[in-house]
Amino acid sequence: MATSHAPQTAEALLADGTTIEIRPLGPQDHQAVLGLYTDGMSEESLRMRFFGISRNAPTQAADWLCGPPRPGLLALGAWAGEELVGEADCELLDEPPETAELALAVADRWHHRGVATLLVEHLVHAARAAGIRSFEADTLFGNRAVHGVFAALGLPVHRSFTQGEVRLRVLLDESAEQYRTAVDVRGRQADVASMAALLRPASVAVIGASRREGSVGRTVLGKIRRGAFTGKVWAVNPYAEEIDGEPVYPSVGLLPEVPDLAVLAVPAAAVGETAEECGATGVRALVVLTSGLGPQDARRLMRACRRHSMRLVGPNSLGIAQTDSGVRLDAEFGEAFPLPGTAGVAVQSGGVGIALLERLAWLGVGVSSFVSLGDKYDVSGNDLLQWWEADGRTDLALLHLESFGSPRAFARTARRVTRSIPVLTVDAGRSDAGRRGAASHTAAAATPTVTREALFRQAGITAARSIDELVAAAALLHAQPLPAPRGAVAVVSNAGGIGILAADACAEAGLVLPELSQEIAEWLPPGASVRNPVDTTAAVGPEELTHLLRALEREAAVDAILVCLVPTALSANRHDGPVRALLEGPARRRVPIAAVLLDQQVPVRYLTCADGGALPVYSDTVAAAQAFAHARDRARWLAEPAPVPVDAPGCDRRTARSLVDGWLTAHPEGGWLDPLSTADLLESYGLPLTTSVWARDEHTAAVTAAGLFRLGHEGKVALKAYWPGQVHKSAAGAVRTGLATEAEVRAAYREFTQKFGAELAGAVVQPMAAPGLELLAGVVQDQVFGPLVVLGLGGTAADVLADRAARLAPLSERDLTTMVTQLRSAPLLLGQGGRQAVDLAAVRSVLARLSRLAEDVPELAEADLNPVIVRPDGALCVDARVRLEARPSYDPYLRRLRRPTAAEEQ
Ligand code: ADP
Ligand code: MG
Repeated sequence: MATSHAPQTAEALLADGTTIEIRPLGPQDHQAVLGLYTDGMSEESLRMRFFGISRNAPTQAADWLCGPPRPGLLALGAWAGEELVGEADCELLDEPPETAELALAVADRWHHRGVATLLVEHLVHAARAAGIRSFEADTLFGNRAVHGVFAALGLPVHRSFTQGEVRLRVLLDESAEQYRTAVDVRGRQADVASMAALLRPASVAVIGASRREGSVGRTVLGKIRRGAFTGKVWAVNPYAEEIDGEPVYPSVGLLPEVPDLAVLAVPAAAVGETAEECGATGVRALVVLTSGLGPQDARRLMRACRRHSMRLVGPNSLGIAQTDSGVRLDAEFGEAFPLPGTAGVAVQSGGVGIALLERLAWLGVGVSSFVSLGDKYDVSGNDLLQWWEADGRTDLALLHLESFGSPRAFARTARRVTRSIPVLTVDAGRSDAGRRGAASHTAAAATPTVTREALFRQAGITAARSIDELVAAAALLHAQPLPAPRGAVAVVSNAGGIGILAADACAEAGLVLPELSQEIAEWLPPGASVRNPVDTTAAVGPEELTHLLRALEREAAVDAILVCLVPTALSANRHDGPVRALLEGPARRRVPIAAVLLDQQVPVRYLTCADGGALPVYSDTVAAAQAFAHARDRARWLAEPAPVPVDAPGCDRRTARSLVDGWLTAHPEGGWLDPLSTADLLESYGLPLTTSVWARDEHTAAVTAAGLFRLGHEGKVALKAYWPGQVHKSAAGAVRTGLATEAEVRAAYREFTQKFGAELAGAVVQPMAAPGLELLAGVVQDQVFGPLVVLGLGGTAADVLADRAARLAPLSERDLTTMVTQLRSAPLLLGQGGRQAVDLAAVRSVLARLSRLAEDVPELAEADLNPVIVRPDGALCVDARVRLEARPSYDPYLRRLRRPTAAEEQ
């Protein structure tokens, strides 16, 4: 068994939200393991673990698990603080091959909380990395707990029965997607549970509340008290005795009860110590308002949170607010009290949070939970999305994030959550300048934006370009039904010029204005135009408009209605003018409806209509049109079936895993693979790399070439110089193609030696591929969304033409199709104009395999296959580069809490 890649220490959440540390057991843990068996477990539990009660069994097991490291043994412990609460281990058997015998023990007090499942998941992960393909476990017939754990794991389990025992066989390699989904669901439940102390606390302490009027702590304390918080609230400050007539306690440990949540407004240097004290007292969650933490403070804070199982918002947070039916908590220091409601709001920057809350207040849209994430050491937008998905209340999610905690997790979560509720965001850091701002502002990593808009769309997220656009879209999505995916808008105005502006705005937003039937003319004053935009003229009265709107609602060609009204002399009294038609009509119609009132002061607000529904009213045609376009995009996205990840036969996950683990053990800092490792990795996923043979000297190159001439197009080979760290080979003169004889190969090699001197590590010999269309295919990591699969025109033209399509991994069948058709050079591939089509199945296969590789190997930072030469009879890659990164921030097969990156800790 490969022992190269020892399991790492990781923190993860139990089903009830408790943080647990998982780490390999070693000699120092002997006492703890023995304690687990002898103090933590009843006789009955010991019988289940050791089959019968041999008095020596626990000691023998502890000796065995905590002895010197043994190849073939993996042993993991689960720790709650200093307490070992469970153990899972496996040891490779001689027979059957690649099978390990698994054993498991959890302290009685910790049963039914998911310790065993979490341990087994981590053991599965480590075992897979070590090349193990199945677990076997002998269990007593009555051991329902363990049988339950395996049954729910998401991996295929076979059972065989022998007198009183059940032999379980768990296959680790199969059903990757099913297992991943199961891990995902468990992770989600645990995550939501862990957030309860934060968002539904029964009691809160504000630590660092000073007597000074206007101080952060005092403001938050005041807001909690005045905000009708139903639970208990205490102030903590060693330097004050009372604030506003209420007692102040000198420390969190001296409070009458242990609070669920502590809000910290203490100086940066005191944050770590205060957090530790909170944790030791039993506080379950922290909101840290303090900013300017140094790296040391940051580390102490994180350590306290993980050790004591506290979820953390901040530091540098503006606070949180929660208006859940049970809890009304307003622990933020913005101006206003957020109204209770159903919109979830999470922002990174406090200023943006205040602006958003203010605009929502104008609209009268209430908030279910508001979280200012600040520097988001722990809780990120992802956690909130999951919370809102599950809280049974939130029906609209608004995010303003400059960077995302864990891109892959975010992309996965967003794609799911956006199916049930609209998720809106401002595409922050879009411009170069914005990106610099994002990077320095919260020290979050910059997020390149090349295809960001398309990626947001792919995840089903409504991405606005400004806060106002976000609120405009939210107003429509919140109050009105979605249009049909076609999104055809009927525009009605009482002043022709405004109608034309609105029509232009719709067209610019990509909306169509359908032709209307002549029937509507019946409801129009003489001289009105029935073309779309409909111009009613200023003479239109409320009755006529009411009938007109009803007629438009019935038109099959109409998916949405936009009414633009200008106050005119004829309708100076709004309540008697055409606005009356809007007020007295229903807000809920067959199609969504919105209005533009040019004399309105605020950008958007609601009119309450006769049916009690809300009609969004904008002050500007562009805002209204953009809102309709966002609603149409969402309708289109929902109309598409949920994408099913493509599968590619014969991807050898295990080989890829051991290659990657082996390489990263030798190169812990990560980097570009050498040509041989690259070829091995790509081959394990069936990617069609051409025959590439490594030659370290001139002689080997010549001999190798002799064997390859017959494989090459026109009997020729290519020779490529290699040295570590090389970037573009041809630009450096490191590629020689079309070599026909051994003498030419020798000459080329000698030339390399002269040119590159001692740097030259060797050369790759390849048969020449038959000419075809050169494409590039690859994987890159987006900092917001994680891995993207890219397809484009390749070869030397790649950079000049920049004709590319990118999609989030995992790709669906549909992605495979649209990636090809979206390219400007699609006609070259599809074979139009007398040209023969290339082998599209081969192109699709390359993309599908890259998608799987990106998903299965989170360490894959970059893969660049350029060119893949495609022809009517196949696809062949002649040049590939792969870069690995040692510590992926997210692994879909492993539940663990994110650790802040070095950048975020600063
Ligand atoms: P780099 O991209 O680092 O400059 P490549 O290995 O991609 O180097 O080689 C540059 C170009 O040479 C390719 O785009 C392709 O046109 C051609 N080429 C390289 N290897 C082969 C080969 N084995 N068969 C046919 N053409 C090749
Ligand atoms: Mg190349």
